Order: sequence, then structure tokens, then C-alpha cells
Amino acid sequence: MDISVIIPLYNEEESLPELFAWIEKVMKENHYTYEIIAVNDGSRDNSWDVIKRESERNPHIKGISFQRNYGKSPALNVGFDAAQGDVVITMDADLQDSPDEIPGLYKMIKEEGYHLVSGWKQKRLDPVFSKNIPSKFFNGVTRKVSGIQLNDFNCGLKAYQKKVIKSIEVYGEMHRYIPVIAKWAGFEKIGEKAVKHQERKYGVTKFGWNRFVNGFLDLMSIVFITKFARRPMHLFGLWGTGSFLIGFMILLYLSISKIFFSQLGIASRPIFYFGILAIIIGAQMFLTGFLAELVSRSAPERNDYKIGERVGW
Ligand code: UDP
Ligand code: MG
Repeated sequence: MDISVIIPLYNEEESLPELFAWIEKVMKENHYTYEIIAVNDGSRDNSWDVIKRESERNPHIKGISFQRNYGKSPALNVGFDAAQGDVVITMDADLQDSPDEIPGLYKMIKEEGYHLVSGWKQKRLDPVFSKNIPSKFFNGVTRKVSGIQLNDFNCGLKAYQKKVIKSIEVYGEMHRYIPVIAKWAGFEKIGEKAVKHQERKYGVTKFGWNRFVNGFLDLMSIVFITKFARRPMHLFGLWGTGSFLIGFMILLYLSISKIFFSQLGIASRPIFYFGILAIIIGAQMFLTGFLAELVSRSAPERNDYKIGERVGW
């Protein structure tokens, strides 16, 4: 199978028939073998009925339905598990992403060898204040932290080699950082393609302001988990020891100046409080690191490594 199209959706009944028909048209014109995996993320409208109906009409359309609304990342994760195509394309259900981009994305993966290609909504048609400006900021920070030069991390339209999506896991709201997760899983050939972006035709956006708060917390989790989850002591131990030593030096200095130069009582010097604080924080961080180390040692998946290939077995 050439292509799996994964569509996470929440309350998108009006868009679905049009979207499916459009994807089918593109697939037929380009003679791709394909499947469409629609993941119904606990919709409260008739989306699931629409999917069942469409699936009877066209056997390439497959549906998975959550019992309740879990979020876009869990929906994508389930779709990733099920996908069989060589190239996997994710797309929003609201017709903002154009299926006409599929052949271009497919070629970049197949012919140019990209592990992952992310769509770039060069001309965004969303409201300027609630979306455009925050998303510029968000993209800037993510570029800095991850070192990946993408203009638009959050675009729902992305294409992957199959092995990429089979070796990453997304949960919470981490769908915004899939390129970052993929890079740290060892897939560094990441490309970008300018794509057409349409206005939302039916329904309303499913994400509010809290996307940015949650977004940054998720970025911190990703950085921490990919870098330190298996060696937490290297983070906490380093900073804890540093902080402890600074506090210790401060108190040592204060004590010496008290004893030998009998200055004022050391508690009346402001730096005294910094010294104490640094020692307490340092000891706490060190202990946190130690506990985290114990936890990660007993995690059942502590020796799971993603193996790329084997030969001669
Ligand atoms: N979505 C989902 N679960 C959710 C929220 C959103 O599956 O809890 C889907 C939604 O139906 C759409 C895609 O994720 O297909 C992107 O959502 P939306 O268009 O609302 O985001 P925006 O374009 O405003 O960033
Ligand atoms: Mg949208």
C-alpha cells in the first residue's frame, strides 16, 4: 500500500463527506493504493455515523472510534498504530488542509528521501490575534529549543515514512512537537513544503487559548523525557550539587569573616539568606534526582531501545 491518510476528528460531520470524496479523487488520479483512517475522537455529533456510512460505500475508508474525547494526539497515536501505507499522511478533518498536496508530499518522502515533511501554512487564514501572533512566538521558541528549522510546527498536514510513525509515541498535546520527537528518535531529514490553507468551512476550532500554556508544558516534558528520563541524576544531580556548593561557599565565607574579622552577626547580612536557600534547594534537587533515578531503574521499559535494522539473524 502506498499511502495511509490519518484523519483525527472531533465534531466534524459536515466536512467529512466532502473531505473523503476529495481524497478519493486525488488518489484515483494518481493511481495510488491507499487507506483512509478516520479516528473519531469521541465526537458528540453524527461524525461516527457518517464514517460508518462512508466506509460501506468505499472500503478504503476505515474508522476507529474513541468512547470519549481524548484529544488530537491520542487520536493520531491510534492512527499511527493502525497505518499500513509506506507513506503516512496526517490531515485535519476541517478542510483547512488540501488533499491536493498529497502527491507533492508523497514525492518528497519517496523520491527525495525525507523522513518527515511538514506542511507550512505560508498564508494563514486564521484570526491574526488569537492565532497568527501566538503561533509565530510558539514556532520561534520551538525552533530554538529543538534546532529544527521549520516555520510551522503545528500544521496538521504532515507526511512521514512508515518507520518514523511506528517508532514514536504521542500523547497529551504533543502533536505540536512531532518533528521534535521524530528528530530525537533519530529521524533528522525533516523537510517543509508550503501548502495551501483554507478557511474553516464548517464548524468551529477545537482549541482555545490554553493551547499555548499546555503547549509549553508539553515542550518541557519532551525535552526532559528525551534527554533525561533515563538518567535523571545528570540533570538534578548537576544543578543540585552546584546550588549546594554555592550555598556552602557563601556560608563558609560568612563564618570565616565572623570568626577572624568579628564582623556583625552573620544573620544580619542579606547574603546569608541566599546561602541557606541555595543549600536547601541544592539538597532537594539532589534528592529528587536520586528518587527519579530509582524510579527509572525499576521502569519495565528501561532497556527498550528503538532498533533501526538487524542483519545476519
Ligand atoms: N481534533 C481532535 N480532537 C480534539 C480536538 C481536535 O481530533 O480534541 C481534530 C479536529 O477535529 C481537526 C484537527 O484536530 O480535525 C484540528 O483541529 P482544529 O481545526 O480545531 O484546530 P485549528 O485548525 O484551529 O488549529
Ligand atoms: Mg483547523
